[in-house]
Amino acid sequence: MGKALIIGCGGVASVAIHKCCQNSEVFEEICIASRTVSKCDALKEKLQGTTKTKITTAQVNADNVDELIALINEVKPDVVLNLALPYQDLTIMDACLATKTHYIDTANYEPEDTAKFEYSWQWAYREKFEEAGITALLGSGFDPGVTGVFSAYALKHEFDEINYIDILDCNGGDHGYPFATNFNPEINIREVSAKGSYWEDGHWVETEPMEIKREYNFEGVGEKDMYLLHHEEIESLALNIPGIKRIRFFMTFGQSYLTHLKCLENVGMTSIEPIMYEGKEIIPLQFLKAVLPDPASLGPRTKGKTNIGCIFQGKKDGKEKTYYLYNICDHEECYKEVGSQAVAYTTGVPAMIGAMMVMTGKWNKPGVHNIEEFDPDPFMDALNKWGLPWKETHTPVLVD
Ligand code: NDP
Repeated sequence: MGKALIIGCGGVASVAIHKCCQNSEVFEEICIASRTVSKCDALKEKLQGTTKTKITTAQVNADNVDELIALINEVKPDVVLNLALPYQDLTIMDACLATKTHYIDTANYEPEDTAKFEYSWQWAYREKFEEAGITALLGSGFDPGVTGVFSAYALKHEFDEINYIDILDCNGGDHGYPFATNFNPEINIREVSAKGSYWEDGHWVETEPMEIKREYNFEGVGEKDMYLLHHEEIESLALNIPGIKRIRFFMTFGQSYLTHLKCLENVGMTSIEPIMYEGKEIIPLQFLKAVLPDPASLGPRTKGKTNIGCIFQGKKDGKEKTYYLYNICDHEECYKEVGSQAVAYTTGVPAMIGAMMVMTGKWNKPGVHNIEEFDPDPFMDALNKWGLPWKETHTPVLVD
């Protein structure tokens, strides 16, 4: 049916690419383009022969708009799926605009030198994308991503008005290392060491990092400590879910992770301020990334499950009601299927589905849109079909 250009070839991209290859009726052709082309070639080598999808590869520096434009003009994809880092979102959006090509990503733009997590930069492209007649689908991972689709689904089918959303992200997996991150360490540590915040009564409430802690008993995992974090989908859901009073995001962390993170913070290793080292400028966090285990290498070692979902409270026909939508994903099963752990899997599958929604025209809305702005039903069906079946309950245990 069409052709996708996938930019990036790391942990998340690898899963999305496996899934595109399983879905060759839609993804007749993919081009994998990244900074290190040998990774793209190795994945192509592994997959071709197992799929009808035609695979090509290319080298690209996604910080360079002209290079991206030249690549898009050469490949002529129907969609560009951005699975590089959040730093490249704007250059890739610029290239999509110049070539009138649809755009999909899984994380909001972040300037490399400031830990600032907001959609303002990407929302500033709304009119330009609308005028160009192309769709930008923002945040098509799990969180953001499936959490937004869950919210749209709950609003469409379960509630007249949603007042409270608690997003719970639990990773009950154990990789056996004292400290490692499940996706890109630099992006992950920037996120978890930032101040926390939640949305309440029309404004942000800021907290110290990891200040708010709760315990929750997750199906498939058990009792876990979880901490309130700022997370980007709160910003878009606050706009797109009418009647909302409060949105919070909680993520589970083990004690070993928190202890290591605290030590690393205390000695300045998580800083993004450049320092001089042996006459060369380095950024401590980037150096730390270089010495930590590559998340892609965690696949064969990780055991246990993830459980990610949203608890909604609101009203239907004048009555108060609660509703919990969630997915449980098994690290070892993911590894058996695509050679990756569940955090990459739960992001890569929705990335493929988002690209499929746009490519097949099921989701086609010129402009720049967050995922909850689209009809959730075809995406929810696709989650069941492509490896992330969801569960629901109307009697969840609430966080507080
Ligand atoms: P990785 O670090 O594993 O992969 C990033 C890839 O992008 C690498 O292949 C890297 O190339 C490539 N890349 C980086 N810079 C450039 C550049 N300038 N030009 C071309 N390619 C580049 O990251 P992950 O796979 O863990 O994460 C990918 C994205 O997914 C991130 O944006 C992350 O925030 C997002 N994410 C979203 C989640 C969600 O639920 N929404 C959850 C987890 C992650 P090289 O091999 O040379 O380093």
